[in-house]
Amino acid sequence: MLDPKLTDEPARRAALDRYEVLDTPREPAFDRITDLVRSILGVPISAVSLVDADRQWFKALSGLDAEETPRDVAFCNHTIRERAPMVVTDATEDARFRDNPLVTGDPNIRSYAGIPLETPDGYNIGSLCAIDTVPRQFDPGQIAILRNLAALVVEQLELRRIAERDHLTGALTRRAFLNEMNRAIALFERHQRPASLLLFDIDHFKRINDAHGHPAGDRVIRGIAQLCTSLQRPSDSLGRLGGEEFGILLPEAGEHDATKAAQRFCDAIAATEIPGAPPLHATASFGVAELSGDWPTGESWLAVADMALYEAKRSGRNRIAVARHESCNAT
Ligand code: GH3
Ligand code: MG
Ligand code: MG
Repeated sequence: MLDPKLTDEPARRAALDRYEVLDTPREPAFDRITDLVRSILGVPISAVSLVDADRQWFKALSGLDAEETPRDVAFCNHTIRERAPMVVTDATEDARFRDNPLVTGDPNIRSYAGIPLETPDGYNIGSLCAIDTVPRQFDPGQIAILRNLAALVVEQLELRRIAERDHLTGALTRRAFLNEMNRAIALFERHQRPASLLLFDIDHFKRINDAHGHPAGDRVIRGIAQLCTSLQRPSDSLGRLGGEEFGILLPEAGEHDATKAAQRFCDAIAATEIPGAPPLHATASFGVAELSGDWPTGESWLAVADMALYEAKRSGRNRIAVARHESCNAT
């Protein structure tokens, strides 16, 4: 029977993108799995390969040194077309692969067993594979082990995704947001790319909880996060930093643009009625801090924005305040 999820390439790519894993550094959790494949199956090469638009990118690769290959030569590009494992006992006898440059040249692949990495919603985003440079059979016990290890790879990706996203709002968790901030700091230090941070806190939120109950408060938090997501640019990140406190990271934005953006978010929140029974309304106060060499860590950058946020609260709420460099000695 035809399985539509195996041919829906845009949905497959969206499933892969959700993990935000492409081009991330190597991680021991995945290296361990490919090391296990090599030692248990006795193969020289194993990979966790993720199939992107035009390339296969290796989250883990043991026994070989590479980052990626073009998609059209990837064995894994065939593996993701089926639910079942793909086994090639001798690539030189297989019409699909005998002229493949990975077979005729380095690393001289002769045999291959790949298990599709299937997401919980049924998309094959890549494969876990075992590769040998001599022809060989893979017995059912080895395929079963490979299947279990492939399931572990997907579980690992799922856990990472869950740890990065806040359950209530879908925004980045504090930890994941700080990682994004530190990435912006590295770009600033290396290539002088600007970036700005908007930090905001919902005004008099305790009153909303007290008057309408905690679930209504949650509805406001979710509604405001959704509003911010709908207003931000694709390159911006929204993070939930605490109960009703959020950060918005604006890459490539200096203080002037960030101030305008903050005012836009602040006005939109104040103008929005959050649907439900009863409909609710809230405002928020913003602190704006452009990245500068004076605050070299995510935490110190946050502290500076927090001082500006405090200033916005102190001077009346439902407004923005911009961090002043000379007043900030945050550590
Ligand atoms: P301010 O304008 O000074 O920010 O006043 P505030 O009342 O908003 O004060 P504060 O920011 O200190 O209070 C935050 C409150 O948010 C306290 C806490 O009970 C509530 N809160 C924290 N997390 C959650 C959550 O996940 N859901 C709900 N409903 N309430 C939360
Ligand atoms: Mg508050
Ligand atoms: Mg607060």
